[in-house]
Amino acid sequence: MKVYKFGGASVKDAAGVRNLRSIVSDEDGLFVIVSAMGKTTNALERIFEGVQKGDTEATGRHIAELREYHNRIIEDLYREPHRIEAVDAMFEELETLTSDGICETSAADRRYRSEDAELWYDRIVSYGELVSTLIISDYLNRSGIKNEWIDMRRCIITQQRHKDAAVDLEASAPLLRHIVESSDKHAFIGQGFIGSAPDGTVTTLGREGSDYSAAVAAYILDAESMSVWKDVDGVLNADPKIFPDARHIPELRYLDAIELAYSGAQIIHPKTIQPLQNKNIPLYVRPFGDKRKAGTVIRASMARIDIPILILKRDMVLLNIRPRDFSFVLEERFAEIFALLAQYRIKSHLVHNSAVNLSLCIDNSWHIDEAMKALREDGFDVMRIDNMELLTIRGYTPELLDRYASGDDVYVRQSTQSTLRIVRKAK
Ligand code: ASP
Ligand code: MG
Repeated sequence: MKVYKFGGASVKDAAGVRNLRSIVSDEDGLFVIVSAMGKTTNALERIFEGVQKGDTEATGRHIAELREYHNRIIEDLYREPHRIEAVDAMFEELETLTSDGICETSAADRRYRSEDAELWYDRIVSYGELVSTLIISDYLNRSGIKNEWIDMRRCIITQQRHKDAAVDLEASAPLLRHIVESSDKHAFIGQGFIGSAPDGTVTTLGREGSDYSAAVAAYILDAESMSVWKDVDGVLNADPKIFPDARHIPELRYLDAIELAYSGAQIIHPKTIQPLQNKNIPLYVRPFGDKRKAGTVIRASMARIDIPILILKRDMVLLNIRPRDFSFVLEERFAEIFALLAQYRIKSHLVHNSAVNLSLCIDNSWHIDEAMKALREDGFDVMRIDNMELLTIRGYTPELLDRYASGDDVYVRQSTQSTLRIVRKAK
């Protein structure tokens, strides 16, 4: 069994779906994970906001537009008027759910309540993947690729947490295996991004979480490989929009891929690698537009990357923290500061300290001001510098050091033998 994953951009229109068909038609024994089509998840987030605000007019309009968008794809695929009943049923469910704010699918029918915002977010946003997979499964079945549509809510069990749930592999494995083993089909189409909590409510795995779904399926089904089909030629050593001399990397180690994903390289969802690495399943990142190209393979290997990798994380904040009484930060106050930041869900991407000063490069979030207030109350002077960027260069060369590490826009510079990290003011 192989696992293929197609992201929203690759199935944004009928041409994309036809292309998917041509990619999967060569294979026998395939589990295909698909995201919502195009920008559907963003549109569903707007629908959710409409429900939050009680704006039924806007909600209804957004749903109508989304329905129209999907109907157009269906008609383009069949080149004639065509309806897929299951798709219509999904949109009707979504309409009912959002118009009276009552969820019929849960044990206790309830109206929207702000305490349950995250639960409602998942209920609404999950329709994107349900609809995209119904369309694709129908089209493949009618064009000769017999497949089974899988409702991943029935077999991907997550923790009891909405909007950003982790998958419970042990609970999910027997369910997914049973569905696949008891089927007479050789191709399966399932949704990325969604699952269900132990209490039966639908959950989502965090934005861009379909890669993670595919890795979970690959892990459970002991797949021989997983491929992510993307609108790039594979993994590059830098974002070509920012660094014009970006180059293609043919092979990466799991470890490098995890580091890259965490430093902000948008190749794959950071949670994807771990399940694959645990079972030694290679991950291919392949160009959707040309299946003859090899792309990049990520696996356990000795191969170290021999070109530098540049990753830029934008919209960062630099916090400078100093005890007002001049006590030594490192010895006495480290644990206290980090405990407080953890409480406000603030994650540090870079930590730099001197005797009495601690500098942290953190994601911009609403909680920073609250954390600063708490730190001040605990006797620290805190300064916040906005509009920063964190540049990480793995495998840096003297030229790159020269080019990026000097200049008055550089606030913090940290290097090990292999990695250079710079916090600089955004241009
Ligand atoms: N459709 C979801 C999103 O746009 C999940 C994904 O694409 O991986 O975030
Ligand atoms: Mg996506």
